[in-house]
Amino acid sequence: MPEPIYLDHAATTPVRPEVFEAMQPFFGPRFGNPSSLHRWGREARAALDEARERLASTLGAHSDELCFTSCGTEADNMALIGVWRSRRERDGRNAAVATPIEHKAVLGALHEVAHEGGEERLLRVDACGVVDSSSFDELVNDDAAVCSVMWVNNEIGVMQDVPAFAQRAHQRGVTFHTDAVQAFGKVHIDARKTPFDLLSISGHKIGAPKGIGALFIRRGTPVAPLMFGGSQDRGRRPGTENVAMAVGLARAAELTVAEREEECGRLNALRERLEAALLERIPDAVIHGRGAPRAPHVLNISVPGTDSEAMLMALDLRGVACSAGSACQSGSITPSHVLTALGVPADLAGAAIRMSLGSLTTDEGVARVAELFPTLVEKARRLATA
Ligand code: PLP
Repeated sequence: MPEPIYLDHAATTPVRPEVFEAMQPFFGPRFGNPSSLHRWGREARAALDEARERLASTLGAHSDELCFTSCGTEADNMALIGVWRSRRERDGRNAAVATPIEHKAVLGALHEVAHEGGEERLLRVDACGVVDSSSFDELVNDDAAVCSVMWVNNEIGVMQDVPAFAQRAHQRGVTFHTDAVQAFGKVHIDARKTPFDLLSISGHKIGAPKGIGALFIRRGTPVAPLMFGGSQDRGRRPGTENVAMAVGLARAAELTVAEREEECGRLNALRERLEAALLERIPDAVIHGRGAPRAPHVLNISVPGTDSEAMLMALDLRGVACSAGSACQSGSITPSHVLTALGVPADLAGAAIRMSLGSLTTDEGVARVAELFPTLVEKARRLATA
């Protein structure tokens, strides 16, 4: 059996050895609690402060603008619910707005806002997944507290014009959040140049472990805490800080940003090659989001007459790991909410396979998948018509 091929980097990435190495001392002798005043505590505090500073510098942010969280989901929840609660109280603005193609971390937070009496509003997207700017002007208005537009979509890779939306939200006095979990390392992010108020990232998408994320909160942005207790992170997020993970996230972020241009060029070339090969062999295949600006690591393909679950299993049997839509939805047979929002018919949405490229993707792996996938499609179609 040839080497297995991992094409699921949008679900998660392997921990980088440099990250593992940077974290190791904090599972050993440097175990202190950063709130303690003694030497162990001071050492942990220094490491945490340094991690915050290093991460901040990868975003063009001040270190006090970064809040470490347990994951991207927590960062998204904190941004949406925290800002909405705060601004409803302060300014009486009651609506929260997002795109219908957000990750469930944002959409779930929006439902919570509605559950607490707020108004949930969804923007429109076109058939490629690009946010319709007239719906933005309509819905992001004087009643809106917060608006969230993801920078890169996790299922189809489509990129939004975040700088323009952030600016337009400000003109209406609306706090602007972007989920950059898939964008970090794929687009240039600089808080000094782009006026987002909040931005979420997640460690495990960029070579740090699962269970660490961060929320950038621009100075002066009102965010009510979601947890209560200690005074860590100046009360924004109580709980003893996870020093090892913060150190790991900072290291991963530095490496990712340093390699961004070269790695994006490499992934883009590989994705283009794979896409062209698949379309040549399967001319009726549909690549979702094609025609819109896309991040280089995602390719989402539907082949009419196939079914994503059966295809995923057939690929897995031959050592190729992909996913259907987003990993969090695997196991559920409902079509992806993202493809549904694009107006993709249910049968085509039910055939979608997401291939996501990253550090483990090689020329040889792409060539093998370009060869294998069409043969599996032929087989599936033969079975379906037999
Ligand atoms: N936002 C996007 C766009 C994602 O792709 C993910 C994870 O798949 C998340 C948020 C959630 O991040 P985490 O897994 O760290 O909770």
